[in-house]
Amino acid sequence: MRIFTFDTTLRDGTQGEGICFSADDKLLIAQALDELGVDYIEGGWPGSNPKDHEFFARANELRLKHARLVAFGATHLARFSVKDDPSVQALMRAETQAVAIFGKSWDLHVHRALEISEEQNLKVIAETVGYLKAHGKEVIYDAEHFFDGYAANPGFALRTIEAAKDAGADVIVLCDTNGGTLTGRVGSVCAAVRQRIDGVLGIHTHNDADLAVANTLAAVENGITHVQGCMNGYGERCGNANLASIITNLELKMGCTTIGQEKLANLTSVARFVANLADLPIRGDQPYVGKSAFAHKAGVHVSAVLKDPRTYEHVSPGLVGNRQRVLLSELSGRGNILYKLNELGLDHLDNLARQKLLDRVKDLENQGYQFEVAEGTFELLVRQALTPAAHLFEAPSYHLTSQSCATTATVAFKMMDGVHSSTAEGDSPVHALDLALRQCLSTQYPEIADVRLTDYAVRVIDFSKANAARVRVSIECSDHRRSWRTMGISGSVIESTWLALLDALQLELMRLTDESSSSGRLVSASGQTTSRVGN
Ligand SMILES: [Zn+2]
Repeated sequence: MRIFTFDTTLRDGTQGEGICFSADDKLLIAQALDELGVDYIEGGWPGSNPKDHEFFARANELRLKHARLVAFGATHLARFSVKDDPSVQALMRAETQAVAIFGKSWDLHVHRALEISEEQNLKVIAETVGYLKAHGKEVIYDAEHFFDGYAANPGFALRTIEAAKDAGADVIVLCDTNGGTLTGRVGSVCAAVRQRIDGVLGIHTHNDADLAVANTLAAVENGITHVQGCMNGYGERCGNANLASIITNLELKMGCTTIGQEKLANLTSVARFVANLADLPIRGDQPYVGKSAFAHKAGVHVSAVLKDPRTYEHVSPGLVGNRQRVLLSELSGRGNILYKLNELGLDHLDNLARQKLLDRVKDLENQGYQFEVAEGTFELLVRQALTPAAHLFEAPSYHLTSQSCATTATVAFKMMDGVHSSTAEGDSPVHALDLALRQCLSTQYPEIADVRLTDYAVRVIDFSKANAARVRVSIECSDHRRSWRTMGISGSVIESTWLALLDALQLELMRLTDESSSSGRLVSASGQTTSRVGN
């Protein structure tokens, strides 16, 4: 069955706490949603704020191939005639083919919020829908608070949507505006409305009872063919129904057609693109599109999933453009190690070396390392296990001096042609160490100058040990092609930072050396390295 999708990320989604899209962001998101294959994109409420006004004014910059852009508004105020109502006129000026307007279906709101009679409310609904239809618009009528209204006074709630339908509304959308209706109730009310009203019925749910997606699917099971929601479930309070999950469930579990399975493979990248513009990192455990949605950690799960992914994956991650991941931890088994080695293309470790590596991972996890985060540190361990005699430099040491707001770092290494040292000044000890370290190594390995420190996080572990507490520093570095994360743990922030930086740069050097096969650069392992991931 064909189910129509209506995205309201740019209207209802922006009512979520912490979400603020610029007009440029909105144009980019609308374009991405169109490419994903969504049927309707609600762009905003043109009568309510200048940014939404600007969005519709610039909508001709969009090259929509499939979606219809929708402007949002309300039924006219009783004190204005429909043609004089500022909000309705702003809707007209948005010049979209389709408009969505909300009206009241709960008698409580009619009496208390609008302070008009029930008959007047039916009249403003009919007049507004009729006016917009007379001007050639596709009208999507949102019956606000329909489920609460139906519970309080079913006869009146039904008359409101009949008024919209009789005036020509193309879609009647039943809204669970407060988000508190339970799934069984949503299903039975939708079935009852389906009996009374012909044509396209829609559903718009909020997640206050953590049921928005389930409620939407229950509505579809009961005859609703138009579904509304926001990417990643953004929206006021606990959010709107997550359209990414709705689309996937409809496509993969309910035999419905929405955007089509081919475009479904773009879902993860679109969801993450919207999250980036929202400046809200996508939750790792967000179903289907989150980083952890197909991540396996326990050794027994990994060994089963490697034999047959269906053992612990309800759908194949590739169908939604996500990917399977295997995490390394003290819960890991040999399967996790094997998987990571394959992933790194470094699977030529023999069985004994693999077991030693697994023991080392467990030992370091026990000390506080988290390899599911510090995958770069793990890769370094593997590379060192593969070439135990390879040391790019030896005896690294550092010295820091601080004066008012500047810190000077001096670092030294023994390399092929003798001892090298460098001194650099930075705004902080971390900055100075990073500069001096890269400066020193780049005298021998110029490629290292391209590496940048892109993220830095500190966490105290062993709180209970007071002065003996240790500090875990996790850093991310990147060059032009890739980024990687390493970790250092010790009794001080500086030492932990130093260890993490050393690992990060040593890993990059080993990769570059491998890639260029210039093994002649390596010095022999005659001395000891102070990096704690040394052999
Ligand atoms: Zn809403």
